[in-house]
Amino acid sequence: LSSSLQKALGKLRSKGKLTENDVQEAMREVRLALLAADVNVKVVRDFVARVRERAVGQDVQKSLTPGQQVVKIVYEELTELMGGTQSRIQMAAKPPTVIMLVGLQGAGKTTAIAKLALSFRQHQHRPLLVAADVYRPAAIDQLHVLGRQVEVPVFDMGTSHNPVDIVRNGMQEAERQGADIVLVDTAGRLHIDEGLMTELEDMKAAIQPMEVLLVVDAMTGQDAVHVAETFHERLGVTGIILSKLDGDARGGAALTVRQVTGCPIKYVGLGEKVDGPLEPFHPDRLASRILGMGDVLSLIERAQEKFDMDKAQEMEERMRSANFSLNDFQEMFRQVRNLGPLDQVLKMIPGMNKMKGIENVDLNDKRFVRMDAIISSMTEAERLDPKLMNASRRRRIANGSGTTVRDVNQLLKQFEQTQEMMKRVSGMGKKFGRKGAMN
Ligand code: GDP
Ligand code: MG
Repeated sequence: LSSSLQKALGKLRSKGKLTENDVQEAMREVRLALLAADVNVKVVRDFVARVRERAVGQDVQKSLTPGQQVVKIVYEELTELMGGTQSRIQMAAKPPTVIMLVGLQGAGKTTAIAKLALSFRQHQHRPLLVAADVYRPAAIDQLHVLGRQVEVPVFDMGTSHNPVDIVRNGMQEAERQGADIVLVDTAGRLHIDEGLMTELEDMKAAIQPMEVLLVVDAMTGQDAVHVAETFHERLGVTGIILSKLDGDARGGAALTVRQVTGCPIKYVGLGEKVDGPLEPFHPDRLASRILGMGDVLSLIERAQEKFDMDKAQEMEERMRSANFSLNDFQEMFRQVRNLGPLDQVLKMIPGMNKMKGIENVDLNDKRFVRMDAIISSMTEAERLDPKLMNASRRRRIANGSGTTVRDVNQLLKQFEQTQEMMKRVSGMGKKFGRKGAMN
């Protein structure tokens, strides 16, 4: 989020209930974030109204500031709006399943077709690609090249037939080959164009596709509304593929297109190479991307769910005191482990990845399990005073935990390092624990 948003949110600290004013102020900034991500103005307006309704009067949760809570609601609503769960391609009861990809020129249709084809082939389907973009001779060649790369056959009739004939013949070819999925690559234009729309309608009528997937370039800005509206009106779009999300686009077009068509976003494209299938769509990730918040949000979320704030605070005080023992060490990584893979968790904490000493902390989850076992095999006296641990005690602990003396030594060393590091981190831990990660 912009620093102005962080500032606005910072102002909202230490309130019991979200007031109209709190929400108003936070929403002004959220609005700007959405517009900056190229979400359509009208979509933003409706959306903000909904969030406001939900946010006002809510109790502020203990672990979040009011500002964070507004953002959390925004994020949840965005996620919900963009489709909640992922959806898959519908298969026809009687094969072949026909899928038509439509969209503006350069949106990424042909690339997406190749990725889909690869994915289907890898899942024991027999796809056939049909080259129905007759306006650019290079388009047919491109499909052949990609088809070869993903080892899927391509049907074409050159550029001198009309696309309706081509798809009809393509269907016969599919039957001949025993293909169970037909992917139709259509032409695009730089802008919506009546001639093209009519042609696509005719193609659709001729082959009755199960799916008409609209490919939208994530970089597309405000134009997305008109494009999506027209394609949907004329062709009855059944799903959206959001391409080029690997670029630096915020992805606001996705929200716009989703809203205008009401169709689910089914896949996202994350690269121009075809040797990775399209990624399934994760609405939550795109929501935080649109809000520009990176992973901070998911950390807030998870911390809220899993992390016992009181306990964390208590522990933090102990860490800063001289009494940080192996018991605390164990408790600490049990808590942190609840949040998810540790390296990810650490990366999500602002500033944490820059901490000196972090590279010495072992981030491997399996090792965590071992560490837990080792500490569990110690006596209480040993946990409180690691200096007690001589060679024979270390051997006993290694045996008891099914590890080696080397593992035990390593753990003790890590404990020492953590003690050291905690002294340095504690200032930041305090910030995170009490005021929230965003301040
Ligand atoms: P079409 O005109 O809709 O068929 O678009 P193409 O599939 O030919 O893609 C247009 C351009 O965008 C090509 O240079 C592709 O390599 C590129 N492209 C398509 N999908 C992606 C994607 O997900 N990420 C990136 N970075 N480039 C893509
Ligand atoms: Mg193409």
